Amino acid sequence: MRAQLLVAGASQTGQPIEAVLFARRADLSPAAIRASGRPTVLLIGQQHGDEPASAEALLVLARELAQGELGALTERLNVIVLPRANPDGAAAGQRATASGIDANRDHLLLRTPEAQAIAGLLRDYTPAVVADAHEYPAVGAYLNKFGGIARADVLLQYATAAQVHEFVTRAAEEWFRRPLLDRLQREGLSSDWYHTLSVSSEDRRVAMGSPRPEIGRNAAGLRHAVSLLVETRGSDLGRTHLARRVQTQLVAMRSILDSAAARADDLVKLRRFIETETLAQACTGEVTVEAAATPSEYVLKLIDPANGADMPVSVAWDSTLQLQAVKTRGRPCGYWLAASEREAAMRLRGLGLTVQRIDEKGVVRGESFRETSRSAVADAPGAMLPQVETVPALLDVAVGSWYVSLEQPLAALAISALEPDTPSSYVTHGLVSGVTTVSRVLARPGFRLSPLP
Ligand SMILES: [Zn+2]
Repeated sequence: MRAQLLVAGASQTGQPIEAVLFARRADLSPAAIRASGRPTVLLIGQQHGDEPASAEALLVLARELAQGELGALTERLNVIVLPRANPDGAAAGQRATASGIDANRDHLLLRTPEAQAIAGLLRDYTPAVVADAHEYPAVGAYLNKFGGIARADVLLQYATAAQVHEFVTRAAEEWFRRPLLDRLQREGLSSDWYHTLSVSSEDRRVAMGSPRPEIGRNAAGLRHAVSLLVETRGSDLGRTHLARRVQTQLVAMRSILDSAAARADDLVKLRRFIETETLAQACTGEVTVEAAATPSEYVLKLIDPANGADMPVSVAWDSTLQLQAVKTRGRPCGYWLAASEREAAMRLRGLGLTVQRIDEKGVVRGESFRETSRSAVADAPGAMLPQVETVPALLDVAVGSWYVSLEQPLAALAISALEPDTPSSYVTHGLVSGVTTVSRVLARPGFRLSPLP
């Protein structure tokens, strides 16, 4: 077994963002790892700086891997451990990166070098499994809203964005989450679905993790990785119960590695199947460009702070295990971007998409967008969400403008970024200047293209 330090990038204050790759190969280059025939597992810790158990657990795991204690696993897997994805936040004890942007919600726009570093690892090593280690607050909102405190040692959720392939969802549930629940139970640890509480104490609303594509958990799922969020209890507890929190993360991460090893061949086959299917789907059928949670009911298991007794509470539960389509459109062949949208083209390339430069003038059948109104986005200052109509058009494309084909494995990321009228899109966040500089292309272009290097 060999280990190699990977410097994935540098934080906003210049701290290195370091990962370690473990593999039983002479050649540890990205191309060799991708061609290894073995799935790669990427474990990410501390995207949020004030969630220390995530990084501590991954450091323990990296040591175990380095000392050969998990030897059987590395016969079937390549493993990348990135313990501290947000070193500035960790040093300051704060959730966000130094600029205030939440790294975990930046996996589509890639505004931060921290999210760019993770995108680089995802692009270069195409992991089949991604586990993202976090911590959740045990007291504040639970006490305020329900008079209780959190009971679950760990909250779990896999990718729940509308475009995540159903086979990836099924693999996450059957191959990973169920064995993980058994493992936790054997270790005497409790778990629940991941959720967050609305701030208001006036309602009883609790929401599972969102379907938005820019969240790390979902962005990995849209890359066809089995993607698991593991949140231990205690981001508001300082160092209280830290050993238990670290141990809980370790139990979860070892279970995920064991599941990946047990399903190594299946994971490789699954990826190949979905990539082939994705390429064939371009220009056909429909795609859900925005989805919302389904309102339902749930019983949260809390603890009575007065006596430690179990305290179940009924809540209004926004479930993202069943999504409702908010907007669907025909799936285009690709997207055209004006020459002026170079920065957007570079970000798409940073995600791992192939972006092509248009080398000769041409005409192609498509749809342009017409903006009918726009509105602010609640959780994103400065963002303006457009509403649009699509207008059938023959698109005159100029030399130097850009084409993003959907005949590529990461098509779902292009759709998430470039359909303009969603809260996550490049237009909404001003990375594409408006709805007139992006269009849907509905036929395979016949003009000359060259890949953006
Ligand atoms: Zn977190």
